Amino acid sequence: MPERKILLSEKDLPRKWYNVAPDLPEPLPPPLHPATREPVGPDALAPIFPMGLIEQEVCQERWVDIPEEVLDIYAMWRPTPMFRATALEKLLDTPAEIYYKYEGVSPAGSHKPNTAVAQAFYNKREGVKRIATETGAGQWGSALSHACSMFGIECMVYMVKVSFQQKPYRKSMIETWGAKVVASPSELTESGRKILEKDPGSTGSLGIAISEAVEDAVKRDDTKYALGSVLNHVILHQSVIGQECLKQFEKIGKLPDIIVGCHGGGSNFAGLSFPFVPLKAEGKNIRIIAVEPQSCATLTTGAYDYDFGDVAGFTPLLMMYTLGHDFVPPGIHAGGLRYHGAAPLVSLLLKNKVIEAVAYQQLEVFESAMKFARSEGIIIAPESAHALHGAVVEALKCKETGEKKAILFGLSGHGHFDMSAYDAYLAGDLS
Ligand SMILES: *Cc1c(COP(=O)(O)O)cnc(C)c1O
Repeated sequence: MPERKILLSEKDLPRKWYNVAPDLPEPLPPPLHPATREPVGPDALAPIFPMGLIEQEVCQERWVDIPEEVLDIYAMWRPTPMFRATALEKLLDTPAEIYYKYEGVSPAGSHKPNTAVAQAFYNKREGVKRIATETGAGQWGSALSHACSMFGIECMVYMVKVSFQQKPYRKSMIETWGAKVVASPSELTESGRKILEKDPGSTGSLGIAISEAVEDAVKRDDTKYALGSVLNHVILHQSVIGQECLKQFEKIGKLPDIIVGCHGGGSNFAGLSFPFVPLKAEGKNIRIIAVEPQSCATLTTGAYDYDFGDVAGFTPLLMMYTLGHDFVPPGIHAGGLRYHGAAPLVSLLLKNKVIEAVAYQQLEVFESAMKFARSEGIIIAPESAHALHGAVVEALKCKETGEKKAILFGLSGHGHFDMSAYDAYLAGDLS
């Protein structure tokens, strides 16, 4: 019988974060000032981020020490398990081996605490009393609320109104860990009031909520801002995922042939796959695939260009694949994948063909999620189901060719707060 659960012990917890910057095929284009279009220096970011994180944003070192205080909290759920999906393999009747790294065991139920805890730590170290942030479906807001409670920091969450109304339990989670949460657009900020004036019924968007949270942080001395994806320091923190997978594959004496991750802003995909990039550079034949929804197909149909991270144009311009900062994605269930942009690091590697990208439709993705629940037993987040579906497609190709490839996909979170999406699927209402 193949090993079903590939576990590491606490002593295998990565002690350093891996930074892909020195291993890029070309230098990363710098962020630009929104008004002058000159490269922004670290000083320009100081009103919104603590210095510890700004340093990581521009860091060129391959390895960055993980502080003991962060390791201590990581150790509560890390290293996370990697499973061999033998039941799914059997269901698909594929010769491929399918593995998944399960990040749903964290307190917030996703990979997001990997960076939330680190960000709360650096804010605390620099005396920050309060952090403002946005959240779409609520995963990031709950992860940051948890992390802030671990370090005794106040937390203010601007939650996209449509999710605020549709995902009451994510909101309850945020409040349980002690953060304040308000529906965005709100009356609390100028950006929010402006949107409401024009469109009182606005259900909000991630871009609007980011504008509100950034404005909040800029206007208050005791407050900084935190972003849950896209930026270099977030991707750095998420590298614990892939580093653990490397060790887990070492344990079973092989390497994955294909790595698949879902892509919203790029953080779980990059965290899973970037630690394998140096192996690719050494000549190992590993395909790395980012999966996105067809309704928000940033990587596969977007332009590689400078664009804002938010709607109001407060953020620096980032060089990335983008659908345009005023793009409002349709309300698909994978809320975490509805972002107009992409991580600059992911974008650069895609442009250089180190990684690939593919887009799938919500319905086919949910069909795979149902198969997974009924074979492996885990009810996964709609976001993660995109990665799963990418792995299923590759496994079915192996069935045709008879190849026994090892496929690793990132199971970024459980779907216990997404049951309305499963309801819609079961009722035949999913489009
Ligand atoms: C937020 C989220 C995503 C998308 O964000 P990335 O930064 O692209 O990883 C994917 N899966 C889950 C479970 C999430 O919570």
